[in-house]
Amino acid sequence: MDPASPPLDGTGKVWLKAMTRPQLLAWAAQALGARPTQAENLWAALYRRLAAAPDDITEIDADLRARLGACARVDALAVHAVHTAADGTRKLALRTDDGAIIEAVLIPGVVGDAGRATLCVSSQVGCAMNCQFCLTAKMGLIRHLSAAEIIEQVVLARRLFPDTWISNVVFMGMGEPLHNLDAVIAATKILCDDRGLGLSARRVTVSTSGLIPAIQRFFAESPARLAVSINATTDEIRDYIMPVNRKYPLEALLAALRALPMRRRERVTLEYVLLADVNDTPADAERLAALVAGLPCKLNLIPFNPHPGSEFRRPDPERVLAFKAALQAHHLNTSIRTTRGDERMAACGQLGTPPAPPDAADRPRTPPRTRRPPGLVLA
Ligand code: SAH
Repeated sequence: MDPASPPLDGTGKVWLKAMTRPQLLAWAAQALGARPTQAENLWAALYRRLAAAPDDITEIDADLRARLGACARVDALAVHAVHTAADGTRKLALRTDDGAIIEAVLIPGVVGDAGRATLCVSSQVGCAMNCQFCLTAKMGLIRHLSAAEIIEQVVLARRLFPDTWISNVVFMGMGEPLHNLDAVIAATKILCDDRGLGLSARRVTVSTSGLIPAIQRFFAESPARLAVSINATTDEIRDYIMPVNRKYPLEALLAALRALPMRRRERVTLEYVLLADVNDTPADAERLAALVAGLPCKLNLIPFNPHPGSEFRRPDPERVLAFKAALQAHHLNTSIRTTRGDERMAACGQLGTPPAPPDAADRPRTPPRTRRPPGLVLA
């Protein structure tokens, strides 16, 4: 970022939370005449004390504060609603300046991890990927979020729940993070800054549907970890449930992952949504094991979470356990993602506004259903 052209909101104000620390330091020096220590204090006020407005940043002198308030903003989203599910999962509905509602989900740790929590953040309003099993897909892509709007989800969650230690952040909410690559890379750098929010890079995970060129750039530039939604073991099924596969098919995706310059002991997480009778057979488990052989990875199985209008079903628990056991028999590190918050529509794939009625002309059209392979029959 050139300090002379910082990221601006719709009214021409600078998004303070869209800048990494070096960027904020350079900008504050150039635009405000701030000394490095003053800029460091500003950074700490934003992310250590979670200051809510320029006026509130008493760490810097009144003059500088006034100059800051005239051209920049601290906030990026407003809290619209907070829903709490019976298991303690909280869905935060947050409003953007232009009136869109995005969602972040706070998932408290369970036994052994109590007192810690994971925040699942959104990276776009809607999504362009059109995965057939995901509710967000039905919105189409409305727009990318700025890095400030991504970071604000974490700041608001910490401010709303000061007693919950948010130790992990996952980019698994609404949107395809690697389609909004610049903002997501900046956001991961801001999250992991040790003088700010201070997340460990090992505890920040960005999940993608498999955009190969973006994976390569992300890996080179972001401190965070990568997760990839594999979700099928043949191109026929993956083409159907994840249209992105037509551009970046399975073999090419796995080859690209194998070629990543992984750090020692690093693992890429591979997610696999289990859809009854679509991708959950014993043959699928064997093919999945063969596909990932030799790749340093952790497999994360996600039993499908239903939403209104979805044609898929969650497999029976025995089927899920059998799938896991088959992968473990190949010595693959495999876990099942327990469903959290689903009665509040806060679980994976349940975020977003259901499709609008056809007369809502100002929304993008619901993306079309893909064609189901002829041999596949859904109950
Ligand atoms: N666009 C990114 C991140 C968003 S979704 C991606 O594709 O990875 C995070 C995870 O939830 C992905 O693995 C996705 O496949 C999964 N998912 C989406 N809809 C789901 C649903 N209805 N039930 C269970 N998992 C779902």
